[in-house]
Amino acid sequence: MATLGGSVADRIAEHISEVTGSPFQIAAQRSVGGGCINQAAKVSGRNRTFFIKTNHVDQLAMFEAERDGLQEMYDSRSIRVPQPLCCGVAGTLSYIVMEWLDLGGGRSGSAWRQMGEQLAAMHRATSDHGYGWHRDNTIGSTPQQNQWCEDWVEFWRDRRLGPQFSLAHAKGGHFSRRDELMNAIPKLLRGHTPTASLLHGDLWSGNAAITAEGEPVILDPATYYGDPEADLAMTELFGRFPNEFYQAYDSVLPIDDGYRQRQVLYNLYHILNHFNLFGGSYESQANSMINQLLP
Ligand code: ADP
Repeated sequence: MATLGGSVADRIAEHISEVTGSPFQIAAQRSVGGGCINQAAKVSGRNRTFFIKTNHVDQLAMFEAERDGLQEMYDSRSIRVPQPLCCGVAGTLSYIVMEWLDLGGGRSGSAWRQMGEQLAAMHRATSDHGYGWHRDNTIGSTPQQNQWCEDWVEFWRDRRLGPQFSLAHAKGGHFSRRDELMNAIPKLLRGHTPTASLLHGDLWSGNAAITAEGEPVILDPATYYGDPEADLAMTELFGRFPNEFYQAYDSVLPIDDGYRQRQVLYNLYHILNHFNLFGGSYESQANSMINQLLP
């Protein structure tokens, strides 16, 4: 899909009119590249501009979970995220509509410092239900289980690594030390009882940006409540954020000495997910991470 077709565009415009209480018609639209999973477009009409992602109709729950995640992060009033407007179905497509943000601002040190401080502020939002979230969501397009859990070891083993290993096994992946690793998780996380904090959940460099006004923003979350170090770990996985980010983060929420080891355990989840999504050399990367974690 390059842009939204007539009846789909009309339905979405109608929905925007309903939720904003002000008639909206799409006067101009263009497709936006750069996403991994969905088709995206910028739509404008009479001084209002929105960002819209579409996918097959059966992906509505994915967009509903993204809407809820963006809303929860938005409500934490800590770091800028696009304000979600609505999601729904139009013909054979599902869609999400959110605030359009002019991205691509200069990557200045001060913006990254602000990103670090504000992410730490978001991590200060905590849950009363333990680790998890009120609904499942997706990481990339892989299902992510968020059933509440009081115990972090159990959560990381049974809701995060376990499901990814099962999927990887079904896809023909070989992880000879998988059981050894799963049994070692209590030891690897011994004494670590993180505060259940509001997380972005998929914070690689492609999901962090600076607006034209120089304001940091995070996008496309896989929200849940968990260990803040899981977000930090992912910022280092595919192109590390600038040093100013970590210094500023640490000044608000000091980074614990044990983070370096846990970082590997946390990023293993994303590498297994990448194997499940894209296959290839992520299998050997996962195996070397497992070897790094085990004696
Ligand atoms: P996907 O769900 O397919 O991975 P993303 O949410 O990552 O898609 O969005 C694709 C690209 O669109 C992003 O890399 C970013 O450049 C741009 N983008 C995302 N959200 C917005 C927004 N609210 N306003 C403007 N551009 C956005």
